[in-house]
Amino acid sequence: MRPNFQENYMSKRDYYEVLGINRDSSEDEIKKAYRRLAMKYHPDRNPDSPKAEEHFKEAKEAYEVLSDPRKRAAYDQHGHAGVDASMGGGGAQGFADAFGDIFGDLFGGRSAQANVYRGADLRYNLEISLEQAARGTETKIRIPTMDACGTCHGSGAKPGTSPTTCPTCNGHGQVRMQQGFFSIQQTCPKCHGSGKFISSPCNTCGGSGRVKHHKTLSVKIPAGVDEGDRIRLSGEGEAGVNSGPPGDLYVVIHLTPHSVFQRDHNDLHCEMPVSFTTAALGGEIEIPTLEGHAKIRIPAETQSGKIFRLRGKGIKGVRSNNPGDLLCHVVVETPVKLTPRQKELLQELEAINQEDGSRHSPRAKSWMDKVREFFAE
Ligand SMILES: [Zn+2]
Ligand SMILES: [Zn+2]
Repeated sequence: MRPNFQENYMSKRDYYEVLGINRDSSEDEIKKAYRRLAMKYHPDRNPDSPKAEEHFKEAKEAYEVLSDPRKRAAYDQHGHAGVDASMGGGGAQGFADAFGDIFGDLFGGRSAQANVYRGADLRYNLEISLEQAARGTETKIRIPTMDACGTCHGSGAKPGTSPTTCPTCNGHGQVRMQQGFFSIQQTCPKCHGSGKFISSPCNTCGGSGRVKHHKTLSVKIPAGVDEGDRIRLSGEGEAGVNSGPPGDLYVVIHLTPHSVFQRDHNDLHCEMPVSFTTAALGGEIEIPTLEGHAKIRIPAETQSGKIFRLRGKGIKGVRSNNPGDLLCHVVVETPVKLTPRQKELLQELEAINQEDGSRHSPRAKSWMDKVREFFAE
């Protein structure tokens, strides 16, 4: 039997207060706070202190609620009354029961109808390549789901039999209890609110009317989707309880890191290595784009860090009219594995450069000037 809420929960301390944390604390902070208190008040460490044991239990209870996102949400919204009921019933369902119990009389009581629940929403993480995201794709996903049992068609009763009206609540799903001044309605303990009694449960589903299945769905991914975008497949979530509507399925897009491009909204970025000869003399470089190849003219005297922007070579977002750009970041490459001949040429080049002072290295010159200023201060 459920306790009387009014009496039991008035004097209880706030769970956040118990753990000594803020209401917006992260899961990690909750865990840490609990660990600290549990160490301090653990009965093994405080063998003769009933007070410590009380603190320990209090902290444990607070942690059990706040560490469970669903219970925490119910607690944040409705306080102690929101979560204690769910300990018996489990999650949102138990929570709904709690309100039926307290407010049932005020709102004209509940029928067995109130125990019809919408199925849970499901989330499916789908990883796709950048190319697939840019062009759009269609893919098949396989998801586990609770479906209405095919053997009993969701009734929970063995084929050939049918559920009868629950004798305890006469099909109302609720029973009335007298508690002090209050007349309290609570979920029928025999039928758990369904109002039906199943004498011979279906062998396939054990009487629940639902079975675990896998289903394969075809998902259309629109061109331009980005990391974290969600595609809702209405009604493809879990089946409802007692003929309630099904939940929805959310396909959440994740992009596989690309070997060449980094995406920033609708723009693409890539690193473009340029040989130091090409950077100095100028030339043409072929670069990859999502649609194939493009050529970039590198002007003479191009420095590392210069960005070439190719308009419209990015990605056209789902909600945008124009595609983004491709930004190529120049990295001048130092030649490696030089032969003696190559070294000789470079040394010769360097010697000629030196003769002209710093004329050929404007960046090094301005840098040196700054360094000098810095030390002069
Ligand atoms: Zn069944
Ligand atoms: Zn009943």
